[in-house]
Amino acid sequence: MKALMFKAPLQAVLTERDVPEPAPGEALVHLAYNSICGSDLSFYKGVWHGFTYPVVPGHEWSGTVVQAGGDAGELVGRNVVGDLTVACGSCRHCTVGKPTLCADLQELGFTRDGACAEYMTIPTANLHRLPEGLSLREACQVEPLAVALNAVDRLAVTAGEKVAITGAGGIGLLLAQAVRLRGGEVTVLAEPVPERRQAAHALGVPHTVGGDPGELVGFVEKHPEATPDVVLEASGYPLAVQEAVEAVRSGGRVGLIGYRIEEAAAMAPHHIVVKVLSLQASMGPGDRFGEAIELLAAGTVDVDALLSHEFGLADHARALDVALRRADGNTRSYFNLRA
Ligand SMILES: [Zn+2]
Ligand SMILES: [Zn+2]
Repeated sequence: MKALMFKAPLQAVLTERDVPEPAPGEALVHLAYNSICGSDLSFYKGVWHGFTYPVVPGHEWSGTVVQAGGDAGELVGRNVVGDLTVACGSCRHCTVGKPTLCADLQELGFTRDGACAEYMTIPTANLHRLPEGLSLREACQVEPLAVALNAVDRLAVTAGEKVAITGAGGIGLLLAQAVRLRGGEVTVLAEPVPERRQAAHALGVPHTVGGDPGELVGFVEKHPEATPDVVLEASGYPLAVQEAVEAVRSGGRVGLIGYRIEEAAAMAPHHIVVKVLSLQASMGPGDRFGEAIELLAAGTVDVDALLSHEFGLADHARALDVALRRADGNTRSYFNLRA
């Protein structure tokens, strides 16, 4: 089978290898689509918190089960998506229901082979069945939508609250929709790439500003009615965190969702104390897969706006390049793995 492999920083190669054998408790999935996440780009550059080379990247995927043993046999022939995290199940964090903090966390697409390939093995416990009407192309956005839903809920965004978002990549655009699903109102979004601002407008965000320091704060000063109760930071840039703590109302909350290990900056954290803010991080999809599947199947969330550039695996260099440069209106490059 064909598989994309990250071998070293900035070294991606298309390889020919054997179809993997599922271990007991695992399924073999014939993959259909995989979208390239910001975290994949960080991993590609070699700046990420947990990864091994060489490995097949990819954790935002959809596919069809072709082999599964025991009780999971009924999954064969079913379209599925799945969680990337494989926790040990027995450490201090796992036993209190916080598997993403597992001391021995394995992640598909980072520490073991992921979905930028024709086939992948995965524990059957990680799989979620898709309903008939949901296309495999849209379904590769179930995982990022679950990430957005999990973040909005960790920040406890409730009906009537005003929310600002920094960063309008795939996650930022999904956050905008997740906020609305919870009854919140996105008053303004900050993003440097014009096409991404347009995508946010198309999804109903009324105001956008560029990503330069002071732009979001300046907007809120001029439009006090847009002052956010919550700012969701999805860009991962420290200066956007600074902007968030300055723009949010006193007593408000700031959600940290994006992160970039290679980025550091001097900050003025006194705003956090003086305004008595709450900072809350969110990572991963939590247990929101089921809801994300329902929302996509019902057409309640628009992922067409995100799936901007389709490629075959052989075109991986272009797919990565356009995503890295955020060029040509790119929000998400994605692979059609059956092309
Ligand atoms: Zn992702
Ligand atoms: Zn554990």
